[in-house]
Amino acid sequence: MMNLQSIKQLVVKGGISNRDIAYLSEMEDSTVQLNQINKILAVVRENAIDDETYFHAAAIIRTSDGRSYVSVNLQTGEAIDRFCAERNAINEALRDDRNSQISDVWFMGGVGYVGDYGEPIRAGEEGKRHSPCGSCLELIHEVSFDNPQAKIHMLPLNMGDLEMVYAKDNTALIVRPNEVVTRDIDMLFPHSVIRVSDENGEIVKQMREGLDYFSNPHDIAEISRLERVGTLMQLQVSFDSKDTYFFVKLNKYMAEELRRVCSKDTHNIRSAAVAIVRTEGGDMFVGNNVHSRIQASTPSSVFTAISNATSGLHNPHITNVWKMKIDFEHLPQSLEKFSKTSCVEVMTLRGDERERVKKFSTKDENNSPTAVVTIILPNNGSAQKSENLAGFVTIGISSLLPGGFSNPKSQA
Ligand SMILES: [Zn+2]
Repeated sequence: MMNLQSIKQLVVKGGISNRDIAYLSEMEDSTVQLNQINKILAVVRENAIDDETYFHAAAIIRTSDGRSYVSVNLQTGEAIDRFCAERNAINEALRDDRNSQISDVWFMGGVGYVGDYGEPIRAGEEGKRHSPCGSCLELIHEVSFDNPQAKIHMLPLNMGDLEMVYAKDNTALIVRPNEVVTRDIDMLFPHSVIRVSDENGEIVKQMREGLDYFSNPHDIAEISRLERVGTLMQLQVSFDSKDTYFFVKLNKYMAEELRRVCSKDTHNIRSAAVAIVRTEGGDMFVGNNVHSRIQASTPSSVFTAISNATSGLHNPHITNVWKMKIDFEHLPQSLEKFSKTSCVEVMTLRGDERERVKKFSTKDENNSPTAVVTIILPNNGSAQKSENLAGFVTIGISSLLPGGFSNPKSQA
């Protein structure tokens, strides 16, 4: 078992400290710099290898004001109990300045044989590029919130001896071994936001109506409650993802559940969410989340729904996820932004929720996850099924994962 202090020592042991890489920020992006970064990542990664670690990674992050940080990942054996390289580096940056914004992340990671073999790079892994995991993409997205053009540079796994170049084309899969593939965080975190066009104004109106409805919590408690358990059973029986009647019932149920959650603590709720997961056997499980100003926030709605499914079934195979979230703090900001940019931004599943859905999803013959995710925009339960973005968006979970840059550690 290692702690963060040990990681720092390992970075130092690798001959490189965060102070040593400070100069990176003063250099222009160039092949010289890229080769230097490659060496740094390879050296710290190799020196940080620990017997209990399966996925070996190293990351350098640079902040908008020009500070650079390097770190490696730590895994304690439990897949859920990991401290990713990029997360550790971001923590360092935030400790120095809690308002840090990320401008660049250089990431090198891959599977190594350790213990019995002691090889830092497993055969077949050399030259592969991996993405930061969903949870880290989520964190990078949050920390670079004002800079959606934050760049993620994915270096091929190597021992620091390859001459590096930036990939010229924009393809994800056809890459040469020495090419560094760069993506904006928004591109690598696909469909991270739903942008609803404002061309005719109708959609905005609908969003505002939904928001006004929910942002008046005094009325929420007075609204009659559905017999929730019965409704969920009804939903199970009437499931047909293409059926309008099913969607209307589902939407009504989720809005009702959100109202119930919000009525507990009217003034101090920052955001609330409700999620329903459906398993292969047709069972549905609900979970909700309340993010409060004064109390500890409850776990993610998707996590809770999946936990409920795993306690009901030994190994649930999830076919569908529906989520509706109301954000009392950020949605008004987004709407304000809307008037300037002609769009409303709504987050789809968080990165760590994607990881969880991926893990428990039904799989096809290639072991690719097949669960379908539907984000229902906040509304009062009266949304009708329609093909535009006004009411909801449906996306396959595999489309929500960074294509071509899967991260093996998230499959554990
Ligand atoms: Zn990660």
